[in-house]
Amino acid sequence: MKEAVIVIDMLNDFVTGALRCERAQRIVPSLRKLIEAARERNVPVIYVNDAHHEVDFEVVRRWGKHALKGTIGAQVVPELKPIEGDYVVEKRTYSGFFETGLDPLLRSLGVDTVILSGIHTHVCVKHTAADAFFRGYKIVVAKDGVEAFTQKDHEEGLKYLEYAYGAELKDVDEIISGWKG
Ligand code: ZN
Repeated sequence: MKEAVIVIDMLNDFVTGALRCERAQRIVPSLRKLIEAARERNVPVIYVNDAHHEVDFEVVRRWGKHALKGTIGAQVVPELKPIEGDYVVEKRTYSGFFETGLDPLLRSLGVDTVILSGIHTHVCVKHTAADAFFRGYKIVVAKDGVEAFTQKDHEEGLKYLEYAYGAELKDVDEIISGWKG
């Protein structure tokens, strides 16, 4: 089994900016722990970030301006910033796989299991999980490393991930202790 940690949309606009959400702020410490442990164990860390154009369908039809490419809002929050050796993949809508280089990157790294983290459980995490499932990757979700606007969205999102994609829901500590075994 070869894993990679996927960190989805932990960007200023989603945490403290245009689409901010206090629940997203709450997972920053556990994500930091997960990311640092992954780097120590040479588990690839891949950031999958919205980098929108103003004309993107998702911007125009649904959410308004957020995470516009090149703005501070589209940067990863300071506490979780990528460092040398991490990977950053830009996306234009919910799924980290849709029209991006994520799949070839995972293949190049020999990854067969994705550990999903970030936001939102029922939107970008869910769509990224769907595309991972369609492509044959095994899916682990860091259940204290994902969040959503509401508790209901979050809980229903987790249930769906388990139900539809056979995702394993694990705490960050459980994931990290697996690496040490
Ligand atoms: Zn977006």
